[in-house]
Amino acid sequence: MTGKVCPKCDKWKPLDGFHKNRTRPSGRQSYCKICLNKARKENYKKNRERDLKNCAEWYKNNKEHCVKVAAVYRKANKAEIKKASDEYYQNNKDKWRARHYANRDEILKRMRDRGARKRAEKLEAASCVS
Ligand SMILES: [Zn+2]
Repeated sequence: MTGKVCPKCDKWKPLDGFHKNRTRPSGRQSYCKICLNKARKENYKKNRERDLKNCAEWYKNNKEHCVKVAAVYRKANKAEIKKASDEYYQNNKDKWRARHYANRDEILKRMRDRGARKRAEKLEAASCVS
């Protein structure tokens, strides 16, 4: 069986263990599939870490801007927001109260989770994930 040694893991592998690559004289990648896969994963992880770091950085540098935008929105829509939530409460008073008390811990936990996820999504959406 024909094969070659992968210079990364120093193991002899049959050609099936290498991805095809027509631009190479051997017709195969020089690194075996396993090594390439590993490298790709590591790259992905590295890029991801870099992106997340950039995200955090961006948010840190633009926090004031974010807070301002949110405040402006709240201010501009204060009446609407209040009206909507008041209306909901008035229309669903018993339901709201019963549910709230029955599942207090659960609701609080979910609100916290949702808040954290929303923040994470916002960070991701903040244009820094390539
Ligand atoms: Zn290898």
